[in-house]
Amino acid sequence: MADNKKDYYEVLGVEKGASDDELKRAYRKLAKQYHPDMNPGNAEAELKFKEVNEAYEVLSDPEKREKYDRYGHAAFDPSMGGGAGFGGFSGFGGGFDFGDIFSSIFGGGGGRGARSNAIDGDDISVRVTISFEEAVFGCKKEISFARIEGCSECGATGAAKGTKPETCPTCKGTGSVRVQQNMGFGFMESQRACSNCRGTGKIVKTPCKNCNGKGFVRINKKMDVSIPAGIDSEQRIILRNQGSAGRNGGANGDLCILVRVLPHTVFEREGDNLYCEVPISFAEAALGAEIDIPIIGGGTEKFTIPEGTQSDTSFTLKGKGVPNVNTKRKGDLIITVNVETPKNLTSKQKDLLSAFAESLGEGNTGKRQGFFKKIFNK
Ligand SMILES: [Zn+2]
Ligand SMILES: [Zn+2]
Repeated sequence: MADNKKDYYEVLGVEKGASDDELKRAYRKLAKQYHPDMNPGNAEAELKFKEVNEAYEVLSDPEKREKYDRYGHAAFDPSMGGGAGFGGFSGFGGGFDFGDIFSSIFGGGGGRGARSNAIDGDDISVRVTISFEEAVFGCKKEISFARIEGCSECGATGAAKGTKPETCPTCKGTGSVRVQQNMGFGFMESQRACSNCRGTGKIVKTPCKNCNGKGFVRINKKMDVSIPAGIDSEQRIILRNQGSAGRNGGANGDLCILVRVLPHTVFEREGDNLYCEVPISFAEAALGAEIDIPIIGGGTEKFTIPEGTQSDTSFTLKGKGVPNVNTKRKGDLIITVNVETPKNLTSKQKDLLSAFAESLGEGNTGKRQGFFKKIFNK
């Protein structure tokens, strides 16, 4: 039930007016904390992880966030009819605009088809949210949306079975009428879609029951869509002619799938390159070491950092990034190492480290020595 759902802002622990950055930060922190990998077999953590993902999915999308702010959870619950306008949404994938579909198909503004009375079908937008890995490797997603299709009962004529539409007497079947307008200095003649037959040239005497004589019906569709490897957030996949049907010979609209990619817990992405911060110990940095580097898609790879590596040094692993969505050429993985200063030392460890520090000479810490020379000029 929608009523038992926790407030999405509460789930993420942010204020209602939180910025996108604040949301992202809160999400990353919680997603890390409750990630199933970090909490194996912990059902409560798993539930929290799901809640956090769901909350972020809605609040990070400006359109969904606005609807949520206005209607609460009802905006996304199909059983709660009222909230989101035309009978709610079908799940999280379906943020399409019913208003648009209805206004131009049934509203009768003969706008786009200038030459004839042809009206092109509407384009339909569907949002789909995928994980970071799904974007890198590609995936199949089922999307749901509603589109206008020609009624199959009557073959899009609007006339009941066994009957035929008749030629409109007003426009004699042409679908348009000439209108004269008195301009004071003369008449202006223009052509308009016939209002008697709404530009179709035909009159339906016995309407088809399935479409109420309109010839078109709204159908809820489900469709499997292949999302190519390497797609990035806010990119679109356009399926030509898969939108709503055109009228009077107009073209079908397109189906536009807007992809949103959820952030990853350790990787950041820029273009086809991946970035990752890897903590290393002071000893590893000083002595050099073979360290484990996380690889997108799972697993790790050995990488040798050289002796005397400074904190914040970056290394590039060629071809371990994201495949380009067009060329399929893979980007790089750029790791930045962070030296972690050891904490909570025992007194024995402190003694060892002090002795070690005393043993250091100018050649071991050149940067530091140079820095103080610059300040004190000696
Ligand atoms: Zn029909
Ligand atoms: Zn007519």
